[in-house]
Amino acid sequence: MTRPAVFLDRDGTIIEDVGFLRDVSQIDLLPWSAEAIQALNDAGFVVVVITNQSGVGRGYFDEAHVQATHAALDATLQLHGARIDGYYYCPHYPKATDARYGVECDCRKPASGLLRRAAADLDLDLGRSWMVGDWWRDVQAGTGAGTRTILIRTGRSDVHRPAPPDAPQPDAILINLREAADWILRSSSH
Ligand SMILES: [Mg+2]
Ligand SMILES: [Zn+2]
Repeated sequence: MTRPAVFLDRDGTIIEDVGFLRDVSQIDLLPWSAEAIQALNDAGFVVVVITNQSGVGRGYFDEAHVQATHAALDATLQLHGARIDGYYYCPHYPKATDARYGVECDCRKPASGLLRRAAADLDLDLGRSWMVGDWWRDVQAGTGAGTRTILIRTGRSDVHRPAPPDAPQPDAILINLREAADWILRSSSH
């Protein structure tokens, strides 16, 4: 477990949150995302997307669609000189009728399973890593895995997804991913 990572939520954090993204044409990169991710790449962080995709379990789309979405996002970021080192998604939905997906898994945020899986696969040091997202569930997933956390104010959290009273406090609450990347770079340099 040697390398620090920045775990990023996808919808509302890197791209616009359109609800369930059913077509790759709906990918709408937020204007500062490529620059922010590139800065994290250049600083030596492993950048990993951690995303709940319960649209699979709900039957709105299949896993091939999720993978195609990530390939398309990769292509867009590559044009702008930015790189995602890994994508980890949870396809489950506890109420799904499809037995493959209708489970109480350990990977659907606020659970931390995806971060732990990425850490094992990619040799990451969770204690030197960060989780950035626009929802309290992102903060909870990071806290549970032992990372520092940043809540950002893009996406739909404020209006649609208020935090419950027992939600964990993030290390910082910032405007967007660009500010979060700057915060991480400042906090990690000596
Ligand atoms: Mg989000
Ligand atoms: Zn899951």
